[in-house]
Amino acid sequence: MVLGLETSCDETAAAVVRDGREALSDVVSTQIEIHRRWGGVVPELASRNHVLQVMPVVDEALERAGVRLRDIDVVAVTSGPGLIGALLVGLQVGKSLAYAAGKPVVGVNHLEGHLLAIRMDEQAPEPPFLGLIVSGGHTSLYAVEDYGRYRLLGATLDDAAGEAFDKVARLLGLPYPGGVEIDRLARTGDPKAIRFPRGLNKRKTNDFSFSGLKTAALYHVQQHGLPQGQALADFCASVQEAIADVVTRKAVAAAKEAGLPRLVLCGGVAANSRIRELAVERGAASGIHVHVPPKRLCTDNGAMIAVAGYETFRRGGGAEGLALNANPSWRL
Ligand code: ATP
Ligand code: MG
Ligand code: FE
Repeated sequence: MVLGLETSCDETAAAVVRDGREALSDVVSTQIEIHRRWGGVVPELASRNHVLQVMPVVDEALERAGVRLRDIDVVAVTSGPGLIGALLVGLQVGKSLAYAAGKPVVGVNHLEGHLLAIRMDEQAPEPPFLGLIVSGGHTSLYAVEDYGRYRLLGATLDDAAGEAFDKVARLLGLPYPGGVEIDRLARTGDPKAIRFPRGLNKRKTNDFSFSGLKTAALYHVQQHGLPQGQALADFCASVQEAIADVVTRKAVAAAKEAGLPRLVLCGGVAANSRIRELAVERGAASGIHVHVPPKRLCTDNGAMIAVAGYETFRRGGGAEGLALNANPSWRL
C-alpha cells in the first residue's frame, strides 16, 4: 500500500493506493478560495496553507482508507516540479512519516503522476501511448513507451495552456482559476466570433506557443473594450477554440507520426469540455484511439502521486532515503 502526498502548487492532497492502481482514499484540499482574491497562486500563501492542511489531509486519507500508518509500505511524495516552498512542505512530512513508520520514501515527478493517473481507470490503455499533458504549468507531449520510459516529443516554448486560459480570464476580470470560468461561459458563445492565433500550427513541430494568443486577446480588449454579455461568451468560446484546436491537432498528429495508436489526455486543462470533445473527434478521423479520463483524474490529486510512486519504487527509486530533496524544475 502506498501513501501519496502532493503539495507542489495549490492543492494539498493525500491518498492511499493499493497494488499501484486502486485508490482506497483520495483527499484533496484546494486553496482556490485563498488565492482567488489575488488573481493567481501566491507562492508564500501556498506554502503556509500546505503547512496548515497537510496533516489533517493525511489523517483523513488514512482514516477513509481504513488503515494506519504502519500498514503503509511506501510513502510517495511529489518532489518536483513545482513551487519550492510548497514542495518542501509535502517533502518534509513525507520523510517524517516514512521515518516514523520505518518505511521507504520515494520522490515522484508531478508530471509522471499526471501521465499515470489513468491507471486508476479500468478502461484506460496500457503503454505504449501518447500522453498530452495540458496543465497550469505545462503543455507537453510524451511518448509513454513503458512505465518509467518517457520520451518528450514537444512542449510549449512560452506559456502553458492553463496559463493561457488563466491569463486571458484575468484580463476579462474573471475569477481564478480562469480555465473553468472560460469553459462555462464558452457554452453559450460562438467559437468562430473572433479568430485568435493558433501558435506554431502551420509548422511541422510538436512544440506549442500561446504567447501570441495572449497578446491578441489583450489587443482585442484594448481596441473594443471589455466584452460583456453575449460578446463575453463569444470571446471565451473563441479563446477556448483556439487552444483546443491547436492542442488536439498537434497531439493527434504527433501520435500518428510516432506510430502510437492511443492518445491519453492528462492534466487539469484536460478537464476542458471542448478539448475533450475535439480530441475524440480528431482521433476518430485519424484512427487514433483517444482516452478521456474522468475529470477527477485530470486535476491534481494524491492518488496519482501514489500510483507513480509505486512504479518509481518498483524500478528501484527511493535510494536517496531521507536525503531526498525537492527539485522545483525537475524535467521528466
Ligand atoms: P502543473 O501540473 O503543470 O504543475 P498545476 O498542477 O497547477 O500545474 P493542474 O492542477 O493540473 O495544474 O491544472 C490546473 C489548471 O487547469 C488551471 O490553469 C485551470 O485553469 C485549468 N483548468 C481546470 N479546469 C479547466 C477547464 N474546464 N477548462 C480549461 N482549463 C481548466
Ligand atoms: Mg492546482
Ligand atoms: Fe498538476
